[in-house]
Amino acid sequence: MTSPSARRALDGIPVYKPGKSAADENYKLSSNENPYGPLPGVMERAAGQLGRINRYPDAGMTVLYDALGAKFKLSPDHFAAGTGSVAVLFALLNAHCEAGDEIIYAWRSFEAYPIAADLTGATTTRVPLRDDATHDLDAMAAAITDRTRVVLVCTPNNPTGPIVKQADLEAFLAKVPAGVIVVVDEAYVEFVRDPDAADGLALLAAHDNVVVLRTFSKAYGLAGLRVGYAIAQPAVAESIRKATAPFSVTDLAQAAAVASLDSEAELTARVESIVKEREVMLAALRGQGWDVPEAQGNFVWLPLGDDAMEFAAACDPVSVRPFAGDGVRISVGDPAVNAEFVALAAAWREVH
Ligand SMILES: *Cc1c(COP(=O)(O)O)cnc(C)c1O
Repeated sequence: MTSPSARRALDGIPVYKPGKSAADENYKLSSNENPYGPLPGVMERAAGQLGRINRYPDAGMTVLYDALGAKFKLSPDHFAAGTGSVAVLFALLNAHCEAGDEIIYAWRSFEAYPIAADLTGATTTRVPLRDDATHDLDAMAAAITDRTRVVLVCTPNNPTGPIVKQADLEAFLAKVPAGVIVVVDEAYVEFVRDPDAADGLALLAAHDNVVVLRTFSKAYGLAGLRVGYAIAQPAVAESIRKATAPFSVTDLAQAAAVASLDSEAELTARVESIVKEREVMLAALRGQGWDVPEAQGNFVWLPLGDDAMEFAAACDPVSVRPFAGDGVRISVGDPAVNAEFVALAAAWREVH
């Protein structure tokens, strides 16, 4: 008897490896989570949905799409939400790619990209980052063939930190055929302070093939509720909605997301304190002699190469995210824990 076998596309796909947990959650600097709890009013409005969880959620996500429409001054048909922007990316790639197609992304970049891309059965082209850990958009443009359907651009790039510049992305888009989707993954856009950084929404206004990905998981601090969305031309947004399982975003999550959008002032204050902490960590680490690339998200990157795993183990009890043979990503967390991490990094340098 033969046992059931999954599609061959799954053979090379690793199971997603989450950041290591920590006994004290404040010590978890491995998943780019927000150290702050939910924004004011969010818990109350999410809890307000608890008494009616016998009902399916609003599959049309009308209140959420209206709120996003008001925020971005776009009609609601420009949005497609899902259980995190990773799920939205899975849906987008499933809607547009199949065996025989090609998907291009930079590497190293977000760990979920290879999984989402390979699942479609398409071939992938990974274009190495430049020495300063930025996207090599010229090489990415040169990698486009007539089979390319989607190019993924992560700005700021997880896990290395730098943004893609608006001028560079504009020049890139001028070279991309109109039928190729360019995903601009802006999971960390709220933390960006570089005025030259790419502006996905402005690019979307000028290019019908641009899709912007945003999430409530990072700056908004709702990682546990799973809400992310795409902003795209209505036809593209519709293709993503078609490929998304119905009723996937709960009413709790929708209510929390909408409530978070109503707390813009508090959000800005929290993000600002995380950015300040990032700059403190960056300055301290560079002062120790580390070669840290530009950090525009809520994390910093240490290019440790073959020492990545050993360094991560030496950071105990602080949990960081190593990528074997490449480097270690450290999230900006609680200031006291960040300081502990900086001290551990200094101790490492003294003996290496
Ligand atoms: C965290 C992250 C996301 C979003 O994750 P969700 O929790 O699924 O919304 C998307 N892209 C990148 C690059 C990320 O780091």
